[in-house]
Amino acid sequence: MNDCLFCKIIAGDIPSKKVYEDDLCYAFYDIDPQAPTHFLVIPKEHIQSVSQVSAANQATVGHIFAVIAKLAGELGLESYRVVSNIGDQAGQSVHHLHFHVLSGRDFTWPPG
Ligand code: 5GP
Repeated sequence: MNDCLFCKIIAGDIPSKKVYEDDLCYAFYDIDPQAPTHFLVIPKEHIQSVSQVSAANQATVGHIFAVIAKLAGELGLESYRVVSNIGDQAGQSVHHLHFHVLSGRDFTWPPG
């Protein structure tokens, strides 16, 4: 996945502001934050999107949600939104599975 932006961030070839890292996932602040707190949590394994989650990688995705809960607690986020865009129409611009964690402002529903 040499041309994947997030694989390059995981490898350290592109700098990022790390929030957390373990064997399975990497969390870092979004370069264009859409809320006072906005970070991304991604699997180290290249998975294209939620559409490619399967029995083979579901443990990693479950782990990512546990990491999100842990980080939200450590950062003192009392209310937050977790978003994953799948495909172009939904607004996915980087085709490596990622969960946005946004907090610190009011959010509307439905999302735009
Ligand atoms: P998507 O649009 O695919 O749901 O989200 C991709 C996110 O990656 C966007 O919020 C965008 O700001 C963020 N992003 C794109 N390039 C970079 C980068 O080089 N570094 C960081 N930290 N975030 C990036």
